[in-house]
Amino acid sequence: MKKKINEIFYSLQGEGCHTGTPAVFIRFSGCNLHCSFCDTQHEEGTPMTNEEIIKEACRYPARMVVLTGGEPALQIDKDLIDRLHREHRYICIETNGTTLLPPGIDWVTCSPKAESTVVIPRINELKVVYTGQDVETLREQLKADHYLLQPCSGQNISETVDYVMQHPHWRLSLQTHKFIGIR
Ligand code: SF4
Repeated sequence: MKKKINEIFYSLQGEGCHTGTPAVFIRFSGCNLHCSFCDTQHEEGTPMTNEEIIKEACRYPARMVVLTGGEPALQIDKDLIDRLHREHRYICIETNGTTLLPPGIDWVTCSPKAESTVVIPRINELKVVYTGQDVETLREQLKADHYLLQPCSGQNISETVDYVMQHPHWRLSLQTHKFIGIR
């Protein structure tokens, strides 16, 4: 089945634990949530087969591939994961956690959104967009290897820094790609 792909591009991972790592981003079109602060244009897209996606993604030298969106979990399948592994790619996903994932993904970043239920059983990094909400309940509910708080569209950086310093089980995540003017 063809996937609707918004874009495939090469850059550095700007956020989270892998900040600064060269990566190919495969942006899937469409999402099942409608967050008011959503800052990605993902609705437009081109239908592509898994083979076409792999061919395009593997044009670049980076080993890391980031499945993002929109919500990539709505479209990815085991065949795509297996094909990327056959090309020796390290597969990361950025998901809202509301849809189960095919097995084999190497690194799961979950950014839960208000009033949605996280159903995925394994999270490597929980990356929460901080708007002053109760993040401790979220942390208790969702087991992860790393807990990151990220300012909302760069608006409340000092508030987020303060919160992390007062609650050091969190780490700060910044959208560093925006600071240095890359995608
Ligand atoms: S879950 Fe992510 S991609 Fe979907 S609407 Fe919310 S911020 Fe945008």
